[in-house]
Amino acid sequence: MIKTRITEMFGVERPIVQGGLMWIARAELAAAVANAGGMGFMTALSFGDPEGLRAEIRKCRQMTSKPFGINLTFLPTLRPPDYPAFIRVCIEEGIKFIETAGRNPEPYMAQLKSAGIRVIHKCTSVRHALKAEKIGCDAVSIDGFEAAGHPGEDDVTSLILVPLTRDALKIPIVASGGFADGRGLVAALALGADGMNMGTRFVAVQEAPVHENVKRALVEHGELDTRLIMRSLRNTERVMHNPVVDKVLEIESKGNTKIEDLIPYVSGLVGKTKMLEGGDTQAAILSAGQCMGLIRDIPTCKELLDRIMAEAEAILKEKFAGICR
Ligand code: NAD
Repeated sequence: MIKTRITEMFGVERPIVQGGLMWIARAELAAAVANAGGMGFMTALSFGDPEGLRAEIRKCRQMTSKPFGINLTFLPTLRPPDYPAFIRVCIEEGIKFIETAGRNPEPYMAQLKSAGIRVIHKCTSVRHALKAEKIGCDAVSIDGFEAAGHPGEDDVTSLILVPLTRDALKIPIVASGGFADGRGLVAALALGADGMNMGTRFVAVQEAPVHENVKRALVEHGELDTRLIMRSLRNTERVMHNPVVDKVLEIESKGNTKIEDLIPYVSGLVGKTKMLEGGDTQAAILSAGQCMGLIRDIPTCKELLDRIMAEAEAILKEKFAGICR
């Protein structure tokens, strides 16, 4: 058993956090992660409106008695959400922890804190992590450049970002970006983190509610098969390479890009319909991290987390004990 400030603070058995995967982090996945002892999340914006989120929270409660959290992402979006209404639903439904991401959550901190909700803020730089601590976040998830989705614009990898964040902050931190196995968990702890976050790895699990082709694609693609799109908009997203991605990069290479030029290719709703539900992995974009190179199977969440913990404990107890004299 590995106990850290993250397991203690959030009341989970294992220091493994499931990333807020837009459209994918639904009740089936969050409940499976929670039941396997990890920190499961559902992503609020996946459910259209606050009442959709309420229904999914109730569904998740039927699937697990363990705590799970809600991810609230404040990045640019084609359908601007009513964030305070989403937070009201979380409070009414008794959610105990929320992951904020994308932008400074300060406008919502009073609402969250007055309800006793713990906030873990995901960010991509030490300066943003410091700000999160200053405004009262309970923990920070620090996202290295290897990560899927939006890794920021600084391009600092986890190997540098995690220890720098540890040195700068007093509150617990979670290492995110590039983590997929027990070796990663030990590395995260060695770098000063109190836990690790995995996003892409949790898409290639049995319980992830996406088409099998998507899971198989993550197994078949390697560490070289990601690309960075929307750099020209300073909203960089790391995605799995395919022809749609090449089309986006071709448009961006012409300069003076506007989001309107990219919408037909990057729209989340298109990705949900064509790829996540339809199974056409060539027809839309999919956030994916460099850790695809480490994904070789499609286990259940319990199999995955059992394996990660066993691998991490073996390294700590056997390998390290054997070489440290
Ligand atoms: P969407 O359909 O609203 O937008 C598609 C993409 O275009 C997203 O990457 C979005 O950030 C970007 N975008 C939209 N308007 C923009 C603008 N004005 N300027 C620059 N970029 C713009 O996206 P969705 O799939 O419905 O996702 C909803 C939200 O969740 C978005 O903010 C998205 O970025 C975010 N998300 C985050 C992650 C992550 O890694 N944290 C992964 C997937 C989605």
